[in-house]
Amino acid sequence: MAEHVDLIYLDYAASTPVDPWVVEAMTALMTADGNYANPSSTHVAGRQSVKFIAHAAGQLAALLNTDPSRLIWTSGATESDNLAILGGAHYRQKRGRHLITMRTEHKAVTDTFAELERQGYSITWLNPEPSGLLDMAKFEEALRDDTQLVSIMHINNETGVIQDIAQIGAICRDRDILFHVDAAQSVGKIPVDLSALPVDMMSMTAHKVYGPKGIGALYIADRAGVHVDPLLFGGGQQRKLRPGTLPAQQIVGFGTAAAIAQSRMLRDLEHLNAMRDRLWSGIQDIPGLSTNGAIGCAFPGILNVSIKDVEGESLLLALEPLCVATGSACNSKNQEPSYVLRALGTSDALAQSAIRFSFGRPTSARDIDIAVDRYRSSVARLRNLAPGGVA
Ligand SMILES: *Cc1c(COP(=O)(O)O)cnc(C)c1O
Repeated sequence: MAEHVDLIYLDYAASTPVDPWVVEAMTALMTADGNYANPSSTHVAGRQSVKFIAHAAGQLAALLNTDPSRLIWTSGATESDNLAILGGAHYRQKRGRHLITMRTEHKAVTDTFAELERQGYSITWLNPEPSGLLDMAKFEEALRDDTQLVSIMHINNETGVIQDIAQIGAICRDRDILFHVDAAQSVGKIPVDLSALPVDMMSMTAHKVYGPKGIGALYIADRAGVHVDPLLFGGGQQRKLRPGTLPAQQIVGFGTAAAIAQSRMLRDLEHLNAMRDRLWSGIQDIPGLSTNGAIGCAFPGILNVSIKDVEGESLLLALEPLCVATGSACNSKNQEPSYVLRALGTSDALAQSAIRFSFGRPTSARDIDIAVDRYRSSVARLRNLAPGGVA
């Protein structure tokens, strides 16, 4: 963050800086000397835009080991979740109106299911185990003859917990249930092989993986009975599933970000592991500290911790200039404890003290050391201020 040299940004699960190569690729599709034509136009310039989009689709498809024709461009993971869940439920409603999801999903999923509940669908909301993982026996118990769609996320945006989507997907496929995965936190960060995973629909977004905001994709498997009703109507683009002029520069940005992510994924993961371990070993001995979600089943880019006898909002203020999240970025404007942490069985007081640290490519050991220092001193200071508080 160039003009605020003092800020220590540790909120990469909320958004990432755009890679300079991505910016360069995007610029070439915006300016007068570039390929700015409408890809729906049939003239030479329009056809060139189409080629750039096809190349980007190839890059994203290569990252996911799938065919580019399976990808629908959207404005981000929120729209992809809406299209998959609303569109999938509407398409299948004659077969049944029972749907299953978890209480720890992102708002883009939970609010979409809440809308379907208002439309008369029956929703089962599953709680995770205290680790954050879904228990397979409880999942199978929730399945009914009229269950048509299941949506379970891959990496949780608050805790980093990684669900076993291969196992959940296999159970769904056995019963011909549509299986949707919100993979906004995993695509480009951990291996996702759609040729091997029994997943019918997958949501993803560019801005969590060093691409631009405002572009995402929905993968839809090529399988009988897997289809969505569109949410938008217009010019007929993208097989009428998501019409509108394709934002060629955003798409090329996502494609470039996907190619970069693929080329350095193992290196990125090693780095995130080192950063997470450095932070954890710097704070784990503080009395009253606990992790939200089990570290052993979590993505190393996220560490979410709670602390006894410390109030969350005061802690966040004391932690400045660290840019970290309390609960999730999307709820941090209200004081309600995170619904995700409460679903894990965390008490209100502990959930309120939660801080999510998330790491990225630019994170340095120095950033972590400053974070450790700040966290330790802030906790100690706030405990001394609190009535009857002892560190
Ligand atoms: C960020 C995020 C979203 C929303 O993605 P946008 O592209 O910002 O709409 C949805 N689900 C998860 C898990 C996320 O982390």
